[in-house]
Amino acid sequence: CGIVGYIGNNDSKEILLKGLEKLEYRGYDSAGIAVKNDEGVQIFKEKGRIADLRAIVDETVFAQTGIGHTRWATHGVPSKYNAHPHQSTTGRLTLVHNGVIENYDLLKREYLEDVSFQSDTDTEVVVQLIEKFVYDGLEVEEAFRKTLTLLKGSYAFALLDNRNDETIFVAKNKSPLLVGVGEGFNVVASDAMAMLQVTDQFLELMDKEMVIVTKEKVTIQSLDGEVVSREPFTAELDA
Ligand code: GLU
Repeated sequence: CGIVGYIGNNDSKEILLKGLEKLEYRGYDSAGIAVKNDEGVQIFKEKGRIADLRAIVDETVFAQTGIGHTRWATHGVPSKYNAHPHQSTTGRLTLVHNGVIENYDLLKREYLEDVSFQSDTDTEVVVQLIEKFVYDGLEVEEAFRKTLTLLKGSYAFALLDNRNDETIFVAKNKSPLLVGVGEGFNVVASDAMAMLQVTDQFLELMDKEMVIVTKEKVTIQSLDGEVVSREPFTAELDA
């Protein structure tokens, strides 16, 4: 399973699909991407190979921001509707996740009694919970942070907000994830190999860190909001 993300000036689709192909060795049963432009977020997902996903991606969509995922099912059978990305009910938030949320059922019962779910995944509980906190009045960044503090388990997340063209929100705990740094763009991936196509500069992330990624800037924070400074390293691998 794996995660990729891109924010910059180029079209994201091909970068995401190539990145997912590089992550195929990690194993997966389904795959998907979400791409965002001025018209909103479009999701393409499919059970099976990246080649099957590639076949259904609309080549005419140009979008400079996107996230992608290969899934190794833990909650809910391998299927198109359980494939990531997952969206909140209003469609405002779009999330990909690797890992297992151990207390998803508890969170669902405590906070999300009124929500009708579109998948059987633990992941959908997370995106619905972020939306609930946004509905209650928090900014997306705060709602994401609050949600992260409630989660038990492992995660690598990449989150898009339909109303924010500038940002990919990222977080990690016990699942691999790192940020790739470029000029005029930034990327995220489970493995540097996925993004060597565009950069060899990477920022390591620690558990329970949250990252605000824009095309110009990467801001790493602890879950209490404190900014962490870290220097990138050069990945010496063959693309
Ligand atoms: N637990 C999530 C699911 O079953 C993510 C699995 C993964 O790591 O791909 O959908």
